[in-house]
Amino acid sequence: MTTTTAGGDVGADRKQMMLYSEAEMNQSANEAYAEVIAEAKKAGVLNKDQATLNRVRKIADKLIAQTPVFRQDALDWDWQVNVITEDTINAWCMPGGKIVVYTGIIDALKLTDGELAAVMGHEISHALKEHSRERASQEAVQTLGIATAAAIFGLDQTKANILGIAAQFTFGLPFSRSHETEADRMGTELMARAGYDPYEAVNIWKKMDEVSGSSVPELLSTHPSNKNRIADLQVIAEKVYPLYQEASKKK
Ligand SMILES: [Zn+2]
Repeated sequence: MTTTTAGGDVGADRKQMMLYSEAEMNQSANEAYAEVIAEAKKAGVLNKDQATLNRVRKIADKLIAQTPVFRQDALDWDWQVNVITEDTINAWCMPGGKIVVYTGIIDALKLTDGELAAVMGHEISHALKEHSRERASQEAVQTLGIATAAAIFGLDQTKANILGIAAQFTFGLPFSRSHETEADRMGTELMARAGYDPYEAVNIWKKMDEVSGSSVPELLSTHPSNKNRIADLQVIAEKVYPLYQEASKKK
């Protein structure tokens, strides 16, 4: 058992079972991300709107600057932030800090900077806590049985075929409810430390209730019910509010 992050103010130091290595997940993520970016480029929908790209990157930079509260090594990650013009109400961050924000979520929810920070903070937190690696590991144990999985991963990790796993566990399959709640809490702390009012995180879910669409965003997948989520976020927002006040003073 290992833990990928320090606790921060929200207590994110939960222990995790990891079979795949971080390097394997990151390599898989890099390949999958390059593919997504190449396809978007080909379709002419990559970073079309310079103003939106600048806005998203500026907010991302502020959030990334706060990541050492959860893990020191994150500042050295090869972070990438891109915007894809597509109606999808979604955003995600692959292992190792590879972010995509779709214009659909910004437009449909008319996101303020603070709300956008909450969305990105949530996605960044999935990557910080390495939820994809945890999910992939849990899946391997379920499929193979723990003895077989341990034997396989213990004997020869490099031969494990993990191509596509990072992508699959970032946006192919939903995160579990507990991962969503954890990402909500960590993300809210990140945004508060970055100088965004944490109560704006609560607001997104009120807006999300009003939007109906055919696509189910990652943020909504197996999510705790909006009612529970709003209640939990309110408690967290109150808890991290002093961090926001402190950050605001420094501005
Ligand atoms: Zn999520």
